[in-house]
Amino acid sequence: MTTSAASKGKILIVGAGLSGAVIGRHLAQDGYGVTIVDSRDHIGGNCHTERDAESGVMVHVYGPHIFHTDDEEVWDYVNTFETFMPYKNRVKTTSKGQVFSLPVNLHTINQFFDKTMRPDEARQFITEEQADTSIEDPQTFEEQAMRFVGKELYEAFFKGYTMKQWGCHPSELPASILKRLPVRFNYDDNYFFHKFQGMPQNGYTVMIERMLDCSGIEVRLNTTFSAEMAEGYEHVFYAGPLDGYFDYKLGRLGYRTLDFERFNYEGDYQGCAVMNYGEVDVPYTRITEHKHFAPWENHEKSVCYREFSRAAEPADIPYYPIRQVKEKALLSEYVELANAASGVTFVGRLGTYRYLDMDVTIREALDTARGFVEAQQKGVKVPAFFVAPV
Ligand code: FAD
Ligand code: UDP
Repeated sequence: MTTSAASKGKILIVGAGLSGAVIGRHLAQDGYGVTIVDSRDHIGGNCHTERDAESGVMVHVYGPHIFHTDDEEVWDYVNTFETFMPYKNRVKTTSKGQVFSLPVNLHTINQFFDKTMRPDEARQFITEEQADTSIEDPQTFEEQAMRFVGKELYEAFFKGYTMKQWGCHPSELPASILKRLPVRFNYDDNYFFHKFQGMPQNGYTVMIERMLDCSGIEVRLNTTFSAEMAEGYEHVFYAGPLDGYFDYKLGRLGYRTLDFERFNYEGDYQGCAVMNYGEVDVPYTRITEHKHFAPWENHEKSVCYREFSRAAEPADIPYYPIRQVKEKALLSEYVELANAASGVTFVGRLGTYRYLDMDVTIREALDTARGFVEAQQKGVKVPAFFVAPV
């Protein structure tokens, strides 16, 4: 990570995750002098990966990250910094004493109902005998599940898991959360349906380190942003929590946090990278076995994480924005404050209080950096948000 005299103004970026790194690199290459601060002792934000010294396994420190996208520019972009190895996310789930394949596909349906249906038969069976087709326009998670897979599959795979993940009943959650998962009437068990999917050969942190290795960028770790730091900078890009920027003066935006209970194992613990647990009486949502995220590597020893979800307290890492009615109302108030501020743009998953996959984060960061340069050229105010958070 290097610095050099920059021809344009000085920019401060808060957060050395993907948002900060992509914006920082773009602006440094455009001639700005960029300082990036992060309160953690490492770069990479929540995508941070680290090789475990004892086992040699590449660990996804803040939970499993699989890169998948339809955005060709973003795919080409990440591939300029790191080799992406072919990887398909194949998730299993344990429920009712058996292991099933996810997302719900023909294998899941046949195994669950103890049948040997072909695709058309399975579609007809689910539609006519399982799904609640009286629900015309599902609004809640529960209605979406009842409408598309029916009560039995919903209760085995989604109800308990979702109560653990979100800490509330699926009837209180929007249908959009479940819409992220497909239901397939063939044997395709790829968890994602995007054109490009892969894993960085040496982990995400190495990829982000290369993004930051650019003349004009200085990174300061173990440095928490404070308002005085912005003095002398032309503009601030803030990838920290939106409410935190305003000292939580209107209250805190709700998040779910995760606790990872790490354990080591000699050999292969579960035979796959991600095993979900659909039932509510198993207290964790899933177990991830990190060496299976790098199938091109060989490791005798194994590192696994049991993942527990709960409401975030002030000292916890905010992971999933809750975004229910109450949070959205508070968010609107913070957005108003942000729009009234000047010299700052809020970016990324925390700055805009949205769940963002990595490819969307990169797309938005590229668009934000380009939008900033354009606004500077035109001499117009740089907006607080390039993507509206509500
Ligand atoms: P972050 O990575 O959170 O970076 C923000 C940085 O800002 C952090 O390093 C933080 O320390 C720093 N910071 C915050 N406040 C301050 C402050 N006041 N001062 C200084 N520094 C500060 N996406 C996928 O595409 N595929 C996946 O499989 C996937 N899995 C995920 C699993 C989990 C459990 C979660 C929560 C997310 C997952 N994501 C996945 C999404 C991915 O993590 C995000 O897209 C990405 O982290 C967003 O990057 P960011 O830079 O916006 O935020
Ligand atoms: N989900 C579930 N059972 C599973 C996997 C997912 O009920 O085995 C629900 C859960 O509510 C989750 C949502 O489906 O938040 C979307 O799944 P995804 O895998 O996208 O979850 P995330 O990436 O948010 O953890």
